Amino acid sequence: MPTSAAAASSLSLLFLHPHSRHSSAHRRPVRGGPHLRLPARASRARCASSDAPATATKHRRPAEENIREEAARLRGPVQGFSAWYEPFPPAPGGDPNERYSLDEVVYRSSSGGLLDVRHDMEALARYPGSYWRDLFDSRVGRTAWPYGSGVWSKKEFVLPEIDSDHIVSLFEGNSNLFWAERLGREHLGGMNDLWVKHCGISHTGSFKDLGMTVLVSQVNRLRRAPLSRPIAGVGCASTGDTSAALSAYCAAAGIPAIVFLPADRISLQQLIQPIANGATVLSLDTDFDGCMRLIREVTAELPIYLANSLNSLRLEGQKTAAIEILQQFNWQVPDWVIVPGGNLGNIYAFYKGFEMCRVLGLVDRVPRLVCAQAANANPLYRYYKSGWTEFQPQVAETTFASAIQIGDPVSVDRAGLHLLLCLSSGTSV
Ligand SMILES: *Cc1c(COP(=O)(O)O)cnc(C)c1O
Repeated sequence: MPTSAAAASSLSLLFLHPHSRHSSAHRRPVRGGPHLRLPARASRARCASSDAPATATKHRRPAEENIREEAARLRGPVQGFSAWYEPFPPAPGGDPNERYSLDEVVYRSSSGGLLDVRHDMEALARYPGSYWRDLFDSRVGRTAWPYGSGVWSKKEFVLPEIDSDHIVSLFEGNSNLFWAERLGREHLGGMNDLWVKHCGISHTGSFKDLGMTVLVSQVNRLRRAPLSRPIAGVGCASTGDTSAALSAYCAAAGIPAIVFLPADRISLQQLIQPIANGATVLSLDTDFDGCMRLIREVTAELPIYLANSLNSLRLEGQKTAAIEILQQFNWQVPDWVIVPGGNLGNIYAFYKGFEMCRVLGLVDRVPRLVCAQAANANPLYRYYKSGWTEFQPQVAETTFASAIQIGDPVSVDRAGLHLLLCLSSGTSV
């Protein structure tokens, strides 16, 4: 939920990077950095030894050089990882080879379905799971651009081909995972290992920041490419956390943002962030669905990129929260993970993050995923109760959990597919 983000982001400007931190070692920078090491050298033995992992290689950054320039100087050869859009779930009878470059402006498949970002898993699998674990661990909490971000510390799993210089990041992610001792003991029947991943401790107050850094970075890249139709700005229809995150990242990048909000239906906290971040805020005499229709028409006509929830780039960033949980548990897999579901993008993103780590050998299994919905807005729960036979959108009633007050989730087809595999019990709270 939105918090006083404006205050938080201005505060963070007070912290300057201490150059002297880097002065403790005199080793020359390794060209190309750690992620370019050959698989054979990335063995567990090397990293388990007293040798610092390669990313921790210390060097002195000249005072006149900023961290972006430093990252450009250290950039190595192309690694051969790639990602693209594919229809997901695949349309029955659709072209099995349909795919699009991430550099295309495309939101839906040829049959009108959802798209999903797919990675070249073979290329990633050339490195053992231990390599990825050590690499990601070596980047946590540091300031090297862009790896100090919890999202971009997993860049190879997110947007492998983007130039670090095009990334728009506020060093998001790395949120705390805390032990909810008393809640588990006194309210959940003596459960002694209950943990809460506090994704809301973030610039704009929600996990939407994790996705928005990816979307806005990709737009930033496209804006610098010679496009036949240059992107003038980014827009979304939202009443809450999405517009806050979009406007914050666009402000950081200097990209115009336009936000369509339903008049008189949004709280001051929800309104304050896009306004404070300098977005163009249009208050329309319609409801959220009306705003959604209008922004779609506008983005079809004008060169404005659509940042709404069907955009699959955002899920690539959101999935890093799942990877972070594994990392925070020292790569031990929790038994259950409970995720609140509204449009159902985030629960699918969690599945993607966990499953990618399993396939690439960072862990050996995925946790059981539970989607929690409010009793007044629980279309997925009802779908589950029907034995996954019939999905019925509903008109969501008011709930205190306003971020999940959604009766017709955009990503139901994404979520439904993997829940068939993972979910053994739905829950309604
Ligand atoms: C967006 C949001 C949700 C819902 O996520 P979906 O991907 O729409 O299921 C839940 N909680 C908060 C705080 C959110 O901002």
